[in-house]
Amino acid sequence: MTQLALVIDLNVCVGCHACVTSCKQWNTSGAAGPLFDDNPYGKDPTGTFFNRVQTYEVGNYPNTETIHFPKSCLHCEDAPCVPVCPTGASYKRENDGIVLVDYDKCIGCKYCSWACPYGARELDEKEQVMTKCTLCVDRIYDESLPEAERKPACVMACPTNARLFGDVHDPDSEVSVAIREQGGYQLMPEWGTKPANHYLPRRKTKMHIHEDELVRV
Ligand code: SF4
Ligand code: SF4
Ligand code: SF4
Repeated sequence: MTQLALVIDLNVCVGCHACVTSCKQWNTSGAAGPLFDDNPYGKDPTGTFFNRVQTYEVGNYPNTETIHFPKSCLHCEDAPCVPVCPTGASYKRENDGIVLVDYDKCIGCKYCSWACPYGARELDEKEQVMTKCTLCVDRIYDESLPEAERKPACVMACPTNARLFGDVHDPDSEVSVAIREQGGYQLMPEWGTKPANHYLPRRKTKMHIHEDELVRV
């Protein structure tokens, strides 16, 4: 089975938030998103975010560094947000593994939000329906777009190529190769949710080499 996912490279993410704003732009319904008024998936209202970037300082002064950490729904393979839903609104697609919410069935009870250990869901207060990242399901299959653009909006917008998109079940895909070669990992695998999204860890670069390690030439 295909499992589409994002792979996020923490080594090159610069925390610019382009992925956050492009996500809002693509998925916001109503006046701010006239192209997507009739988009059944992208009901991302003002005040909620499908994708957020958190920034942390790590280490002890003076050896500190800043880590930018983009976070959205991980499209878990064993998603706890699905079986708790009393109406069947929260579901995982068999053809591509994307986890979605059917807004027509959602009653806004928030069970799925409590079940998600990653805090990936946000309630649209106005519509009283649950929202979250859709992997831009309305654009990745859109044949009116050039093939190179059939990717989530955040992937298209990232200026540093920190966001890769593809099938993590295909061993030859770009995402699988990156996971294999760069030591990609899942968030909190001990919870058994099998997140499809992966992160590539920080790797040592010249900027991370402590001055004791520099060799004078
Ligand atoms: Fe569900 Fe949360 Fe996993 Fe997304 S990250 S599939 S909302 S449990
Ligand atoms: Fe299902 Fe909606 Fe309740 Fe979530 S908030 S469990 S999607 S009905
Ligand atoms: Fe990081 Fe790319 Fe998002 Fe900018 S657009 S915050 S570099 S993942």
